[in-house]
Amino acid sequence: MGPGTADDGTTGDGALGRPELLAALREEDPERQEALRRRAEAVRTACVGEAVHLRALIEVSNHCIRRCTYCGLRAPNRRLARYRLSMNEVLDAARSAASLGLGTVVIQAGEDPALTERWVAELVRRLKGETGLAVTLSLGERTPAELRAWRRAGADRYLLRFETSNRALFRHVHPDAPGWGADRLDLLRVLRDLDYEVGSGVIVGLPGQTWNDLVTDLETFRRLDLDMIGVGPYLAHPDTPLGRSAGCAPPGPGQVPPSETVTGRVVALTRLLCPRSNIPATTAVETLAPGRGYECALSFGANVLMPCFTPATQAARYETYPGHNERLVSSAQAVADARRRIAALGRVVGTGDGMSPNVVRRRAVGGAA
Ligand code: SAH
Repeated sequence: MGPGTADDGTTGDGALGRPELLAALREEDPERQEALRRRAEAVRTACVGEAVHLRALIEVSNHCIRRCTYCGLRAPNRRLARYRLSMNEVLDAARSAASLGLGTVVIQAGEDPALTERWVAELVRRLKGETGLAVTLSLGERTPAELRAWRRAGADRYLLRFETSNRALFRHVHPDAPGWGADRLDLLRVLRDLDYEVGSGVIVGLPGQTWNDLVTDLETFRRLDLDMIGVGPYLAHPDTPLGRSAGCAPPGPGQVPPSETVTGRVVALTRLLCPRSNIPATTAVETLAPGRGYECALSFGANVLMPCFTPATQAARYETYPGHNERLVSSAQAVADARRRIAALGRVVGTGDGMSPNVVRRRAVGGAA
């Protein structure tokens, strides 16, 4: 039984080859789309159940040395007021997450060299020691030595989206850092070798992304046997090169639109291809469709929500795209809101650390070998 195949009698990826994936991604017929949604939900129910796990997202720094053409945190964006949380601010946010019953903190930032190997290792040790929460890091492209040190310090998971499997497009939107040209797919392999739970994902509707690219993205999720997969629509940021240029040129014929429905179909197909992975309903889809984006993703196969725990004084500055964290209420209210929306869907809030069943299975197989 290969990765991505349900072993419980449920149809997993079935016969999803490239032609089927392409057709399903482009399917606009409401009835066929509903059939895809139901199929994804059946696999989601069988493989990860009714629980929706809550993760406390703490955006520790919006400093970034990179120049990604889609992202508002890019170094040349002088209109953004920069911030970096102190260790105590991060620990306070994590304690409040623990007291509200969450099992995981996600520590995310721009690519910020001031978050040194030592500082992050110390933060991870204190988070584990003082809160007992599972710790996910999402700090961009860092060296294998840093990733190893943080794993040794106790970090459980790492998120690094490969953004698009189209290598030429990726290079175009994500120029190398001076003197450091890491390959994200190579880093995902390093993370796997270090026995992290590995998360990745893509942006849906990135300018220049074709339907065929998106099919390859889905195939790459399956090939990498990812434990967590985040996908969200592209949202243009006016203070970025891509955000400024989009709208000037008409989209090409094969361009994927960054829409809620396409994102729903990508989530559904991801669930079919990677049945046991944890799939978040991302902030981007909720920003695109306020008040219903989370529901859309959760009813197309997603099983994770990530309420924001970044201190309210700074949260709006983590502006990867406009509107990110804009409607931010307190973290306690964000959790209450998430619980209410999960209950309204007839789902339950997950307990414990919500480790991906994909990891449980891989470690069991590895341990038995
Ligand atoms: N520096 C880290 C974290 C970046 S923010 C890293 O690069 O991994 C997390 C994610 O936000 C990115 O991986 C990207 O997929 C997404 N993102 C950034 N800008 C975006 C935009 N304009 N629209 C949609 N998603 C975006």
